[in-house]
Amino acid sequence: MVTAEPSIFSRIIAGEIPADIVYDGERLIAFRDINPQAPLHLLVVPKTDRYRDVVELAAGDPELLAELVATARLLAEQHGDGDFRLVFNTGAGAGQTVFHAHAHVLSTAGRGGLEEGTLVD
Ligand code: 5GP
Repeated sequence: MVTAEPSIFSRIIAGEIPADIVYDGERLIAFRDINPQAPLHLLVVPKTDRYRDVVELAAGDPELLAELVATARLLAEQHGDGDFRLVFNTGAGAGQTVFHAHAHVLSTAGRGGLEEGTLVD
């Protein structure tokens, strides 16, 4: 049987590798992206590794996706000015590198506008 390696996010959730965690809930965790593309760049991640991307998450657990969006908003308010861009890279061709569903929360935190094309090559 081929067993997939745990994703880097599963290892963060398990506490095996460190991260700057800003939210730790029952079903979601959020931490700062290691390579920020905006003054505020958080990743909001379901704790389950069941869903590879947002399409699978939406189909498999729409309530968890809605909770993820609400958490993104809460964190954008707590860490920024409340305005944010929510990005779900879906598929390698779109820039997805970690195949464990997650959202990028990007915000200038009140310091001007986000550049167009953030997270898109
Ligand atoms: P994707 O490209 O899959 O949409 O997003 C993956 C994100 O995870 C990237 O923005 C990348 O910088 C971030 N990332 C990759 N490895 C780590 C890590 O070990 N720690 C943290 N905090 N972020 C990571």
